Amino acid sequence: MVFMSQWKSCLHSNTYTINSYDAMGMCSFYLLFIGICALLFIIVILLFGDLPNYRDTILNKLHHILVENFFKFITNKLQQFDNTYLNSSLTSQKGKLRLKWLFGWTVPILYLIIFTKCLKLFFDYTYTQIIKYEETLQSPTNWGLRYWFVIIPLIIINYVTFLLAVFSDPGVIGPKRECNFNTSQLQAEFPNDGILFPPEIVCSTCKIKKPPRSKHCSSCDRCVLMFDHHCIWLNNDVGYYTFRWFFLFLCSICIIFVYGGYLSFYSLQVYLKSGNIPENINKASTPKKYWRLIKQTTVGNEITGILLLLCLLLFPLIGYFLVETTWSIYLGVTTNEIGKWNYINELINHDLVYQFDPEDGSAKVYLILTERLPGGQGKFMALSDRSSFNSNIGGSLEPVKGWDDLKNIYDRGFWLNAKQKLFPTSF
Ligand SMILES: [Zn+2]
Ligand SMILES: [Zn+2]
Repeated sequence: MVFMSQWKSCLHSNTYTINSYDAMGMCSFYLLFIGICALLFIIVILLFGDLPNYRDTILNKLHHILVENFFKFITNKLQQFDNTYLNSSLTSQKGKLRLKWLFGWTVPILYLIIFTKCLKLFFDYTYTQIIKYEETLQSPTNWGLRYWFVIIPLIIINYVTFLLAVFSDPGVIGPKRECNFNTSQLQAEFPNDGILFPPEIVCSTCKIKKPPRSKHCSSCDRCVLMFDHHCIWLNNDVGYYTFRWFFLFLCSICIIFVYGGYLSFYSLQVYLKSGNIPENINKASTPKKYWRLIKQTTVGNEITGILLLLCLLLFPLIGYFLVETTWSIYLGVTTNEIGKWNYINELINHDLVYQFDPEDGSAKVYLILTERLPGGQGKFMALSDRSSFNSNIGGSLEPVKGWDDLKNIYDRGFWLNAKQKLFPTSF
């Protein structure tokens, strides 16, 4: 309500006193804030809404509405334009591939441009202000050391890990990397778990055998070793060989948000200490003081304020994603497997998963009840190889009561999971 009245007042005011300038500033600040929040919300929906962890959540529904409506709208408009002006050359098979390629590269290129622009603004205004102030002190902090040993390495790590995550091979299975299923190394790295992955699965699209934990990426049309997810930020798959770069990139960008946010705030504090501050800023309460400092003093402070706001808003979002990725290392799962585990958990909740312990002492088999028959009997499918299973052979049949009854053999403990994901073996 406060925002609405301020917005109206600034729409109707013709004279600019200090107060109306302030209100005008508050308006643009709120509009900027709401704009950034809306943009972030859309990015969250686009990036995370389709991940298996969010299946059947509001985020997933919004993703489908946004993607379906947005793409329908864009496709219709493009088709009209194409039919009228380009003689249908865009909507041909070749044209569609070209468009897919163009859309795919838009996000990573846009990220690189925005990030580089923000860095330039940071060094031109925020950092320069700190250095100028420090030069006036009798015992200045050694900013040369911080510059060469913290700031520059952080930026280099960020660029390098991003480019490696974008351009590295995620672990594509194809003619170049035909997996030899007889090698003990491959079996040790990607064993059959008898639950999520049957042995020697054949991809229905590529028609090739793929080891457990691999998956076909429909966006890239290829099978990838230890597939985690297709990342539109990178326009690449996060898989066996790219997970490490993706993880390091997330770590470096989180540190940049924290340290960059701190330096932006410090730069504003430095300006306050430098004297010659107008009375209306000096005597204002803390949030107002910083707001007026950003809006009413110099272009540098305005830019620093926007950088601070970006760090404050983006850190929780990327930080959350980093925590979730670290948690997946701890659990020994990939994002793709989380979806599969959630599905099995749903089956357990509907009493459809059983454990069969054969009398002959061979290994336990997990079964899914596919059809209930009269007399308490049923038809089953073995999870180990997806074959139909006859439970008439001797053994005990027990319903699986909870998640904990099933063992995730890919969870080897945090450090071994981290070693596998961050230092992959070459195949
Ligand atoms: Zn992909
Ligand atoms: Zn495939």
